[in-house]
Amino acid sequence: MKNKPAHYASAKINKLSMDAESIECSLGNHLVYSISKDPITATDRDWFYSAAYAARERLTEHWIKTMRSYYEQDAKRVYYLSMEFLMGRTLMNAVLNTGCEENFKKAMAGLGLDAERIREQEFDAALGNGGLGRLAACFLDSMATLGIPGYGYGIRYEYGMFNQHIENGYQVEHPDNWLRYGNPWEFPRPEMLYQVKFNGRVVNYADEQGNPRFHWVDTDDVMAMAYDYPIPGYDTETVNNMRLWAAKASRDFDLRYFNEGNYIKAVEDKNESENLSKVLYPDDTTEMGRELRLKQQYFFVCASLQDILVRHHKHHDGFDTLPDKVAIQLNDTHPSIAIAELMRIMVDLHNVDWDHAWDITTRTFAYTNHTLMPEALETWPVELFEKILPRHLQIIYEINHRFLKEVMHRYPDDPGLWARLSIIDETHGRRIRMAHLAIVGSHKVNGVAELHTQLMKDTIFADFQRMWPHKIINMTNGITPRRWLNQANPGLSALISRHIGRGWLKNLSQLRRLVPLADDAEFRAEFAQVKRDNKLRLAKVIEQRLHIQVDPDSMFDVQIKRIHEYKRQLLNVLHVITLYNRLRAGGDCVPRTVIFAGKAAPGYLQAKRIIKLINDVADIINNDPAVADRLKVVFIPNYDVSNAELIVPAANLSEQISTAGTEASGTGNMKLSLNGALTIGTLDGANIEIRQEVGPENFFIFGLTTDEVSRLWAAGYNPWDYYHADAELRQALDMINHGYFSPDDRERFRPIFDALTQGGDPYLLLADYASYIACQQSVEALYRESDAWTRKSILNVAHMGKFSSDRTISDYASQIWGAQPISVPAD
Ligand SMILES: *Cc1c(COP(=O)(O)O)cnc(C)c1O
Repeated sequence: MKNKPAHYASAKINKLSMDAESIECSLGNHLVYSISKDPITATDRDWFYSAAYAARERLTEHWIKTMRSYYEQDAKRVYYLSMEFLMGRTLMNAVLNTGCEENFKKAMAGLGLDAERIREQEFDAALGNGGLGRLAACFLDSMATLGIPGYGYGIRYEYGMFNQHIENGYQVEHPDNWLRYGNPWEFPRPEMLYQVKFNGRVVNYADEQGNPRFHWVDTDDVMAMAYDYPIPGYDTETVNNMRLWAAKASRDFDLRYFNEGNYIKAVEDKNESENLSKVLYPDDTTEMGRELRLKQQYFFVCASLQDILVRHHKHHDGFDTLPDKVAIQLNDTHPSIAIAELMRIMVDLHNVDWDHAWDITTRTFAYTNHTLMPEALETWPVELFEKILPRHLQIIYEINHRFLKEVMHRYPDDPGLWARLSIIDETHGRRIRMAHLAIVGSHKVNGVAELHTQLMKDTIFADFQRMWPHKIINMTNGITPRRWLNQANPGLSALISRHIGRGWLKNLSQLRRLVPLADDAEFRAEFAQVKRDNKLRLAKVIEQRLHIQVDPDSMFDVQIKRIHEYKRQLLNVLHVITLYNRLRAGGDCVPRTVIFAGKAAPGYLQAKRIIKLINDVADIINNDPAVADRLKVVFIPNYDVSNAELIVPAANLSEQISTAGTEASGTGNMKLSLNGALTIGTLDGANIEIRQEVGPENFFIFGLTTDEVSRLWAAGYNPWDYYHADAELRQALDMINHGYFSPDDRERFRPIFDALTQGGDPYLLLADYASYIACQQSVEALYRESDAWTRKSILNVAHMGKFSSDRTISDYASQIWGAQPISVPAD
């Protein structure tokens, strides 16, 4: 240790109690002293802010203590670098994790406040698109709960994921001005500023020993300012930190123009540089190769690395111990420029020898891959790099040069392999393959479910697998049971705890103790009652927001996720239309409410058309007296974490129907199962492992396997064959094509029909249709046996232990990070 911390003991701290009276006192004090409102005129929002301040001040002391323990114990730190953190709301999470829920409720009641309404005043922190960003949020919760010294690093977007309105059945995007009323959870650190350079040019020169040296000069600079967010663990003293960066104009930059007397120009430039952290890119799985996006990536990576090294150098000189004290996880390739940046810092700024620097770098980084789909693999044109990050381009060339030398040495007769492995793709113009940079620069690369990892090894990264057979490993995703069961489903969580205690919150495998209760009629009745209450709660919201009445006893058939062709919402729609046709033809079915929610990327026209189709189909079906109350279709707008918390506990059936081999893992599938929904799903992503855990008899499987998909493509797939062979399928498709659901514009959905037929049906909906419809038939049959359904539903919950993100994080900690839990001393 270089220097001991100063004692803070001399500061007089008025410790805050967790009892109801002192919380009530905090609420009142904050209303008056922090918000400056008269209780007589205070709004729900004012009370929300008071509550947030009352909760956060009960975290901050532990937060400071946690940071101090890590420092004093010189703990190995884990840095989770992610462009996205989909946190959702914080108030309930903060209250539950600090264990003062009951007293908070009492305090609110004491003031005559409606806790539910006040809680809903909070904006979702939606700094992410979907699964990838939500995974990062679950990981932060688990690291804090397990006592792992984990820090989240990302971007403080001024505008997060857009708000989705549905107008006339169409998605309309509205800006997410989430900071409008201020964010009570963030602590601005205006003194924590780092310089980030862009553009400019590289000057080479030789040092005294004649070694080549490089200077990156004439750059345009932006400052990164830190904002900190406390991340409390559950039932522990540990409170970790998430640090997000906001762009601020650099003072130097301003001065240049001020000196020229051009005040307005200076302010304009200030605005331009602060645009860097203005908005989240709302694209889920397709890459938009935009300059601003690349700048965002380097911006947060550059600031985070500087910050990480400042912390490291408080204890350690130089870089030799970095891999022993620091693990950096790259959440997808978005932050993978960090590999070149760390090399630049060591080689250019600290004169570390290249080979030594490279050894340190590769032992520090690990990379998580999230997708196999080629359109999602990030690449950047060499010219763009040359302009924005000229020195990094040189470093990437050098990394590639040395890497390819090794490749050629090991595989001298295989030039095809050299080209395939190269970090530079020469086949589509010259582009940098960020995944290759990430793999070459990391000691471990992980997939996010068994199947996904296997396919990585067999397909897109097969050449790397051959080269480094131990580098690619699996880390099946998980979700935090605190938010996704305890917080979202208080009814079920109370029922569970009443029977098996509260140990499951920190050790989800304990849910296994529910297994015998599946055969207990009384427990089944209670369990079914909780589900019905949750459905009633959702039905009320649907009535309020959409003016659609749904029957809480109908099967709530739920597909909630980003709208994407590979996720096959359209297959679900084909089933809905088939049910509708059967009803119109005098058939019968179990009453169903088919619930959709999800956002489409603003530029993804086909996905937006699918949203319009769902809403048009809903319009026709919900208003057709012929189906009366047996079928309803509902599209709930603005799918986000808070809406997920509302919908998930009310689901009976979970739709996880992606084409086999396309969904890396899925985590929505886990949330729904954990809350007692049965899954209808393909053998894709983590569905396979969920089925394995809950037992095949408690899971509805259908469709082609990945092997069958490959064989079908190899044999030649013709969707028209399926169209002609299946009358019900043909009828449903023709109705879409001919404007049955769009009488005002009969051409509207022809592009959907075309994509599924002459377009080649790339996601094999027609091939899986019959199997899906038949499977839905057995879902119906089971739903009629409500007791048998409930039994299977309980067994699903009971076997979800594996999918706690606590399990995922302890696997990362032991197999990738080499990080240990650190105990924070209690008071
Ligand atoms: C969990 C979650 C997702 C991911 O859902 P998948 O079904 O795994 O794609 C996306 N968005 C939100 C808001 C979520 O909570």
